[in-house]
This record gives sequence, structure tokens and C-alpha cells, in this order.
Amino acid sequence: CRTSVASDRLYEGRESSRASRMGGRPIQIVVTRDDHSFELDEDALSAVLLQDHVKDKNVVVVSVAGAFRKGKSFLLDFFLRYMVTQGSPDWMGSEDEPLEGFSWRGGSERDTTGILIWSEVFISDLPSGEKVAVILMDTQGAFDSESTVRDCATVFALSTMLSSVQIYNLLHNIQEDDLQHLQLFTEYGRLALEDVGHTPFQKLQFLVRDWCFPYEADYGTQGGEVILKRRLQVSDKQHPELQSLRKHIRSCFSDISCFLMPHPGLKVATNPDFDGKLSDIEPDFKKQLHKLVPMILASENLVVKEIAGQKVKAKELLQYFKSYLEIYKG
Ligand code: GDP
Ligand code: MG
Repeated sequence: CRTSVASDRLYEGRESSRASRMGGRPIQIVVTRDDHSFELDEDALSAVLLQDHVKDKNVVVVSVAGAFRKGKSFLLDFFLRYMVTQGSPDWMGSEDEPLEGFSWRGGSERDTTGILIWSEVFISDLPSGEKVAVILMDTQGAFDSESTVRDCATVFALSTMLSSVQIYNLLHNIQEDDLQHLQLFTEYGRLALEDVGHTPFQKLQFLVRDWCFPYEADYGTQGGEVILKRRLQVSDKQHPELQSLRKHIRSCFSDISCFLMPHPGLKVATNPDFDGKLSDIEPDFKKQLHKLVPMILASENLVVKEIAGQKVKAKELLQYFKSYLEIYKG
């Protein structure tokens, strides 16, 4: 893995307070096999969810999904920084620190499809004083060939069913085919749930990367709302298929919002030696990260996972993983 080789080199001979604070690692809990079947690593998942200080707490599960090589893992590593420092004002770290955590820029030779979680579960206080267990989830999918479309749909559906916040990571814009994919994926999940009484999923956060039209809609949430409204608008003039697609998406989530991220700069996008340090990232991007990350992870914004209207404890989440995986087996 290039990321860890690079950071090993950088850490040689000097202590990094943050590295020693990173108590976890990414673990693959759902794996796709070559024959396109799915497997749950139940032992690995149990080891995380059944820890004494975790198992009886309600969970918050934040997932990032979308096509391959669009900066999902990179973003999650900033989520990790926020959680590790418990949202302290300098959570983003110092300018010269390499970015670690979920491996980004495709460290592995073969890009597997599946779901990973961070092994360390973060305990946060809700404003009510309740302690909840925050789980960060990374997904991998390719969207590149016919045979993998079903795999991707399954990964997206599972991560949507098992998370309380699904971040749909897109490049440049919300395109019609992004909405079509979303419809396919959520339909996959909704059918599996067979629960008609409740809105099946909770928060959907569109995240548009490399937004290039800030003069048309500003970076962040406000501009995001403008674009979202435009893209999800239903009108009589639209083809009925476009209307039903939009109604379907609205009906699947109890909350939908959108955030527009600026381009992170050429070093991030193209330099093979970029190791994630802040000094190589455009100030505009960092400014928006400072807004986006607390918007998802600050204690007052945490969304507790619910299934069929009931809050879910960590030990129950394990059972849901098992039963949902059963549905998509084979
Ligand atoms: P993932 O496959 O979606 O998890 O993508 P990664 O997080 O592994 O990142 C893939 C590549 O995109 C890396 O080389 C990153 O440096 C780069 N990258 C990260 N964030 C962004 C972004 O917002 N825009 C662009 N253009 N590149 C990014
Ligand atoms: Mg990734």
C-alpha cells in the first residue's frame, strides 16, 4: 500500500502525536467474491460491535458511497481526524501531516468491492447527554462493467440500509444517471426491507466534489440546496419516468440535502507523491471541510440509526448485518 509506505517513511525517527492517537484500522467486513457472492466477516464485525463499552449503546453509522476513485476514503480520513480529536478546534491537524486512515488513492492492486468500517468505535455525547457509538463506514465499488453493476447495487443498498447517514459522493454535478443509479440502489434496499409503515432510510447527503460553478451556486449547503431543488424538482412538463424517479428518491429518505465542495487543487488530484498534507490542499477546500465535517459529526448533528422506527444498538446492528447479508447471498 503506497499510502502507508509513504507515511512510514515520513514518520521514521519522529513521533507523531496524532499517529499514536489513531487507535484503529480499516477492516473489511463485507467482501465480494470472484463469483459475485457476498460474504460477511462476522468475527471481525463482532469484535468491533460487541466490545463492552459499545454493544449496548445506540449507534450512529456514517457511510460514504459512490463510484470508485472520487475521493471517498480521502474524505473519511478527515472524518477520522475529527472523531479522534473529538472535534477540538484544531481537529484538522497541522499543515505537514500526511493523511492516514482508510487507504485512499487505491492502495491495493486489485480494487475489491465491499464495505469497510473503522475498527475504533467513537463514543460521543448527544446534547441530551446520551452516549452513542459512532461508526465510520467506507464502501468500494467500480461501476465499470455489467457484471459489477449488481455488486455495486448490493454494496450501496447494504450500506444505505445499515447507515443512518449515507453520503452519496459524486464528481462535478448531480447528473440524471446518478439519480437513476440511486433509484436502482434504493429500490434494491427498499424491497429487501419489506417494511411499508416507515420511510425506509434516514439521511441522504449528496456531496458534489470539484464543483466548478460557485458563481451559479455557492460552495457548501446553501448552493447545494439550490442544485438539489433544481435536480429533484418534479413538474408536469417532465416525462412521467423522470417524475416517478424523483418521487421515489424523495420517498426513500426522511432527510435529503446537498453540499458542494470545491476542487482540492492539482496536487491532490494529480500528483502521485501527494501524501495528504494540508499544505498541499487548496484553502477553499479546507474552508468547506471545516463546515462539512462538523455538519455531519458534531454531537448536535449526529443521527442515531433507526430501523422501522426503532433506535438500533450496536449489538442489534450486528444482527441486522447478518440478516441483510442473508438476503443478498448468492
Ligand atoms: P475513493 O476510491 O472514492 O475512495 O477515492 P480515494 O479517496 O482513494 O481518492 C482517489 C484520488 O482522488 C486520490 O488520488 C485523491 O488524492 C484524489 N482526491 C481526493 N479528493 C478529491 C477531490 O475532492 N477532487 C479530486 N479531483 N480528487 C480528489
Ligand atoms: Mg476508497
